[in-house]
Amino acid sequence: MEKENKYEWGEGVFTLLSWFKKEKVKNARILVAGAGALGNEVVKDLALFGVGHIFVVDFDKIELSNLTRSVLFREEDAYSHSYKADIAAKRAMEINPQIKVVPIVGNLFSEVGFGIYRSVDVVIGCLDSRIARYLLNRLCMRAGKTWIDGSIENLTGVVKVFTPGMNCYECGLSREEFNHIMLRTGCADVVRNQSSAGRVATTPISASIIGAMQVQEAMKVIHSDTESAAQFKTLEGKMLRYEGLTNSTNIYKFSSWKKTCPSHERWEPVIEGKNLSATMTVKTFLAKLKILLGVKTLEINMCNNKFVDKIVSDKPEKEFVVMIPESKLNELINENAELKKLSYITLFHKSFYENIDLDFPYQDLTLQQIGIPLFDVVQVSTEKGVFYVELSGDAATFK
Ligand SMILES: [Zn+2]
Repeated sequence: MEKENKYEWGEGVFTLLSWFKKEKVKNARILVAGAGALGNEVVKDLALFGVGHIFVVDFDKIELSNLTRSVLFREEDAYSHSYKADIAAKRAMEINPQIKVVPIVGNLFSEVGFGIYRSVDVVIGCLDSRIARYLLNRLCMRAGKTWIDGSIENLTGVVKVFTPGMNCYECGLSREEFNHIMLRTGCADVVRNQSSAGRVATTPISASIIGAMQVQEAMKVIHSDTESAAQFKTLEGKMLRYEGLTNSTNIYKFSSWKKTCPSHERWEPVIEGKNLSATMTVKTFLAKLKILLGVKTLEINMCNNKFVDKIVSDKPEKEFVVMIPESKLNELINENAELKKLSYITLFHKSFYENIDLDFPYQDLTLQQIGIPLFDVVQVSTEKGVFYVELSGDAATFK
């Protein structure tokens, strides 16, 4: 096939749409959280539209049961135990070779650098648990980004658009729902366990309708600073509910924003550390950080992902050196025969570091090894106050 005189995606098709701005879409950056039924539909539609940079995040592997409503997956992917994010990215680039889809196999909260959240135009949530939504909401509020939540069950689906300053997932929770989440988030790495647990019956129809609505709203967000925006009616501050059984669609106002909600904390200003990377050792990083901030004392707050050096079992009393981020602990216990056996009969006590400072004893470990992902933003406490510093040296990885 002739490869020269390359056809530009959407030329003569989308260019006929009055509101469509090719450059906007080509330069757009979108994070898709979750590559299940909804995530497949969303990634597929984003690829068809020609959205230039898509990040798709999921820690799960493909199973045969996923094939009924996942247009990007094939039987061979289930047999080869491939990761959902990897395959979704690969197939989307087969659909549209002119875009870049970056897969991130991992947890949305501890393995996706906050710099990615900051760098995108909009986040699309394709999640299947309340806890995951609660945490994604926090990250999006922190980054000041709109996120478009989709949920499906049976023939029904809901789309909600959350915009900082207008409405918030946490503010919209009932006390009962909130307490339920608090109870679950008390344990380490609960997100990972929960996300794979709650299975609901979904259909390819509700997935494609809701996924399509999410992408349509995302296109409006991308075009929100163009003159086209005047024609749009968006779902900002609203929810759309589609009921397939009766063919009814309703839009409700959904604007919960409580002044005291802890989720609204915005991380700003963010200082871009151009010479900082998560591949550096703690020692080098702290030295560079001291110079960058012009401070004498500093401490990195590990937020939701502590570094665990040892765990100790109760009965028999035995110590195990683990040296991993807390988010990886369950996986390690499950993969180690002795630890797995012990986990049924005893409790493990963790020895961990919540703050990393100049006295941290493992200074030769890299930031990645202690649980800070590439292109993350670290919260640093110093004698001059709190700073947010981005590991901007990693930005090129996510261009
Ligand atoms: Zn809130």
